[in-house]
Amino acid sequence: MTRSYSIRKRVMVTGGAGFLGSHLCERLLGQGHEVLCVDNLFTGTKQNIEHLIGNPAFEFMRHDVTFPLFVEVDEIYNLACPASPIHYQHDPVQTTKTSVHGAINMLGLAKRLGCKILQASTSEVYGDPVVHPQGEDYWGHVNPIGTRSCYDEGKRCAETLFFDYHRQHGVKIKVARIFNTYGPRMHPADGRVVSNFILQALRGEPITLYGDGSQTRSFCYVDDLIDGLMALMATGDDVTGPVNLGNPNEFTIRELAEKVVARTGAGSELVMKDLPSDDPKQRQPDIGRARSVLGWEPRIQLEEGLTPTIDYFQRFV
Ligand code: NAD
Ligand code: UDP
Ligand code: UDP
Repeated sequence: MTRSYSIRKRVMVTGGAGFLGSHLCERLLGQGHEVLCVDNLFTGTKQNIEHLIGNPAFEFMRHDVTFPLFVEVDEIYNLACPASPIHYQHDPVQTTKTSVHGAINMLGLAKRLGCKILQASTSEVYGDPVVHPQGEDYWGHVNPIGTRSCYDEGKRCAETLFFDYHRQHGVKIKVARIFNTYGPRMHPADGRVVSNFILQALRGEPITLYGDGSQTRSFCYVDDLIDGLMALMATGDDVTGPVNLGNPNEFTIRELAEKVVARTGAGSELVMKDLPSDDPKQRQPDIGRARSVLGWEPRIQLEEGLTPTIDYFQRFV
C-alpha cells in the first residue's frame, strides 16, 4: 500500500548516481522528500552523489535492476541504463537486459506497491527519423539489428512493457522521451558530443566532427529536463505520456563545435572523422504536448547552459 499520510514521499531513483539521476536526487531532496538511489555504478559514480551522502533523507543502494528488488517506496523514477553510445555498446546484451528486465522488475515493484512509475525513455525510439520535428505520434525509423539497436529497441520494448502493465494491471505509468541533454556531471569519457567537444577545446586538442558535422541535434540543459521529469511525475493518473522532453532549438554539430570553441577561447581546429553507423541525421523534439499537458518548456538556451558545463569540465583538464 502506498503511504498517504504525508506529503513527504519516499522516492526511488534508479540510475540515481548517473548524470541525470544525481541531479534528480538533489532536486527531490531539496523538495523535502526521502530519496532511495539505486545504481550498479556501471556509468554512474559515487562522486556524483558524494555531496548527498550524510544527508539522513538520502540512501544509496548498489543494485543491478536486472535483478528483482523488494523495497517500500511511494514513487519510482526508472533512469537506470547507460545512455551514451560508447557505454551502451560496451556490453550490448547487458544494455538490452537493463532496459527490458529492469523495466519488468521495476514495473513488478510498482504493481505490488500501487505507486507511480516514470520511465526515462529516449528520442532514440524515433531512430533516424523521416518525420521532422518528431512528435509523439511518430512511430520511428529504427534499425532492429544495428549497433545502436540494443539501446533503441531495448527502450522501445520498455515502453511496450510500461503500456502493457498499465493496460493489463492498471499500473500508474509516465513515459518521458528525453532528447539530448547536457550539463555538469556528464561522464567525461562517455564520448557524447557536448562533453567531447568541451574537453577537446579545453585541452587544445582538435574537435572531432563525425561525418561533415551537418547532422543536427537539439540540446536541453539538465535543470530544464529535471523540471520536465518532475512536472510529468506530478500529473494525474490519466497522464501516461509518452511526452517529449527536450529543447526544440536545433543546431548542426558543426555549429555546436563553433560555439564551444568561441566560449572556451580555444584555438582548436575542427577535424572530420567517420560517421558512426545508424547515426541519426536530424533530431528536434516537437514539445507541443509537454507545453499543453505539463505547462513546461525549457528556459535555458545553449549559450547559457554551456557556461556551467564548461566550468565543470575544467577539473578534468
Ligand atoms: P548515465 O549513464 O549517466 O546514467 C545512467 C545510470 O544508470 C548510471 O548511474 C549507471 O551506473 C546506471 N545503471 C546502468 N545500468 C544499470 C543497471 N543494470 N542497474 C542499476 N543501475 C544501472 O546516463 P544519463 O544521461 O544520466 O541517462 C539517464 C537515463 O536517461 C537513461 O535511462 C537514459 O537512457 C535516459 N536518457 C538520457 C538522455 C541524455 O541526453 N542524457 C537522453 C535520452 C534518454
Ligand atoms: N518484482 C520485484 N519487486 C517487487 C515485485 C516484483 O522486483 O516488489 C519483480 C518480480 O521478481 C518479477 C517482476 O518484478 O520478476 C515482475 O513482477 P510481476 O508481478 O509482474 O510478475 P510475476 O512475478 O507474476 O512474474
Ligand atoms: N559527435 C561528433 N563528435 C564527437 C561525438 C559525437 O560529431 O566527438 C556527433 C555524433 O556522431 C552525433 C552527435 O554528435 O551525430 C550526437 O552524438 P551523441 O553521442 O552525443 O548523442 P546521440 O548520437 O545519441 O544523439
